[in-house]
Amino acid sequence: MEAALTGRGDLTLSDEQQDFVRSVRDFCARECGPQRLRELTNGFEDLHNEEIARRMAELGWLGITIPEEYGGSGGTFLDAALFLEETAKGEAPIGAYAVTLIVVGTLNRFGSEEQKRRLFGAVTGGGALAIAMSEPDSGSDVASLKASAERSNGDWVLNGSKMWCSYAHKAEEILIVVRTDRGGSPHQGLSMILVPRETAGLTITPIETLGGTETNELHLDGCRVPAEALLGSEGGGWTQLMSGLNSERVILGASALGLAQRAFDEALAYAKERRQFGRPIGSFQAIQHKFADMATDLAQARLLVRSVARMTDDDPERMLPQEASMVKLASTELAKRCALEGMQIMGGYGYASEYPMERYLRSAVVTTIFGGTSEIQKNIIAKTLGL
Ligand SMILES: Cc1cc2nc3c(=O)[nH]c(=O)nc-3n(C[C@H](O)[C@H](O)[C@H](O)COP(=O)(O)OP(=O)(O)OC[C@H]3O[C@@H](n4cnc5c(N)ncnc54)[C@H](O)[C@@H]3O)c2cc1C
Repeated sequence: MEAALTGRGDLTLSDEQQDFVRSVRDFCARECGPQRLRELTNGFEDLHNEEIARRMAELGWLGITIPEEYGGSGGTFLDAALFLEETAKGEAPIGAYAVTLIVVGTLNRFGSEEQKRRLFGAVTGGGALAIAMSEPDSGSDVASLKASAERSNGDWVLNGSKMWCSYAHKAEEILIVVRTDRGGSPHQGLSMILVPRETAGLTITPIETLGGTETNELHLDGCRVPAEALLGSEGGGWTQLMSGLNSERVILGASALGLAQRAFDEALAYAKERRQFGRPIGSFQAIQHKFADMATDLAQARLLVRSVARMTDDDPERMLPQEASMVKLASTELAKRCALEGMQIMGGYGYASEYPMERYLRSAVVTTIFGGTSEIQKNIIAKTLGL
């Protein structure tokens, strides 16, 4: 019998959702196996393959949460969370999708008809979007950002620097958070502006990281876009950012959960095969307990991700700072722990690049940094406890 909580089945999902998860799993197993993945990702350097994204778009999977009137597939936020978990577990090279989905959420809430038509069309065709908040001197303290936009002859002109803009180099357009008014508190005077990747005055420079080339520095030097590029209201940027935090944290949490499960599965298969002292290493209690702990934590994280996704579906307007931060914190810390424990369980082979565990560890360590560090998630949770 399939276990209910370990990712191979889930009694809380509808038959339709279980069928959907199975289809995604089959696609990943068929198209993204180890040898093929190496080719698709240029030796694991580029984790977003346009061809795979386009094929998933054709299946309607990238149109989840996009209304049908804009060419999307509709569906719930829980469907999107299931897709993210399963594609991360199946190692589908669609790295730009999570950040794309974050921008899709903002467009759904605040986009104009024209913006939705244009950008939802791009996403349902397999295209990517990016978001730029962080700056060289503004990370956790997002509201301290300095990049600016000023009105000039009816256009917006952007200046400043952005740091860590994931997949900007592949995005059709980048949602840039800028200061449009310097008066008032740091949270006031922020706005969101959509900038097409090829706009003159925008320079995108890749940043080399432990995880390959996925993120970029942006320079805005008199970058001019029309007035209609403003997303939502002028000066409403902070409120708009806050309204997307539930979904952003569930998106990152669901992806991290898939990665955690992948590291777990890989280590488990290894522990059943590898023999020392005449026995499989999985027969040693020291190893068994690691798996028992991780399996329990995976089940907990899965319940948390799915229940907060459901709460978001039930009431998209409701702010869930505590729950969403718990999802991000629990799932990303678990991904890191599963990859680290996986490496220990696999011994020297876990450390070797021939095996995937070192790659999972490199992918996992950053999940507790981006989208708000674990320390910031704990600050938020503590605040909701009245501390
Ligand atoms: C690979 C990658 C991709 C990213 N993608 C994007 C993206 O697409 N768009 C985007 O806008 N940003 C992106 N980021 C930026 C990311 O969100 C920031 O790196 C993150 O918010 C932390 O900011 P920082 O790196 O400046 O660290 P800092 O804010 O300088 O923090 C440094 C350390 O101090 C701790 N700290 C800071 N403040 C507090 C506090 N109040 N209490 C306790 N501890 C604190 C932090 O937890 C951390 O340990 C990405 C980052 C990376 C590495």
